[in-house]
Amino acid sequence: MTDDGTRIARAQGHTPVADGSAAILRACAEALAASRDAAPVEIRDAIVAIGISSPGPVDPWRGVVVETPNMGPEFHDVPIATELGRAMGLPAFLDRDGNVAALGEMAFGAARDCPDFIYLTVSTGVGGAIVSGGKLFHGPDGTAGELGHTPVSMEEVCACGGVGHLEAFLGGAAMARTARQAAADGRSSFLTALATEKGLSSIDARDIADGEESGDETCHAILERGRRAFAIACVGFVDALNPTRIVVGGSISDAQGARLLVPAREQVAATAFRTPRSRVQIVQAELGPDVGLAGCHPLAISRLGDPAWRSDRPTSTSAQNG
Ligand SMILES: [Zn+2]
Repeated sequence: MTDDGTRIARAQGHTPVADGSAAILRACAEALAASRDAAPVEIRDAIVAIGISSPGPVDPWRGVVVETPNMGPEFHDVPIATELGRAMGLPAFLDRDGNVAALGEMAFGAARDCPDFIYLTVSTGVGGAIVSGGKLFHGPDGTAGELGHTPVSMEEVCACGGVGHLEAFLGGAAMARTARQAAADGRSSFLTALATEKGLSSIDARDIADGEESGDETCHAILERGRRAFAIACVGFVDALNPTRIVVGGSISDAQGARLLVPAREQVAATAFRTPRSRVQIVQAELGPDVGLAGCHPLAISRLGDPAWRSDRPTSTSAQNG
């Protein structure tokens, strides 16, 4: 990718989750090499760095994926930036997927010229990022910005084990779980018919949206609960963080559009603190599913000349070791 966001080449491959971390790193290096080799030679020679977006938690300063639920039990404390940097002979920089997406929207999308915003991505799970003064807010451990795990209730256990998190109401996986239960209990003729047709386990978030569209009350209630949780959470984000914009991306948000954003705008207008609510805009993200690729460019370029990202964490704070 070049400075203006033009994508020169891309490659993708299957992630060999069952084969362990060495095989996953090898697959990443192969995909990187394939996309480099697909670029014209003058571009190939001008590549300066690699940006890496990974599910969290990660340690961005050391370039280490601490653990991630979807890569198998062996994939933890993986020094992915060092390994891929060595494989490619280039400096490599890592951050959590929500943070990288926020950098993408700030460089090329809905947060251009907006140094104070929060980013939310609503798809299988709910990710987030906080940008303040044009910089990602990481906290001392690099774990800040997990806005999808903000509590909005005292019920409902989240996939992460926490209680009442936004993701437990709004995430695609969580809503699909609720829908499968409703189908099994016979509380929705639409979902029950679908379970008979294609199997209970294959009911997903898109089916719930289809059900709502066709007038199914249970599907409507599941989505309405998610939208309500989102609206309540936005009030909290506005009151706590005073963002200029709340940029919302991800497949569910892209599909729901105004149905998700309008109730949140109304809730914020009615109940958030007066000063921050008069400033904030809640807007759709602009970059779609490739937002992570877009974000890797500003990620790598902004850190290339910054010693804090080449050595160790920039603060003296060390929570574990004291
Ligand atoms: Zn959670």
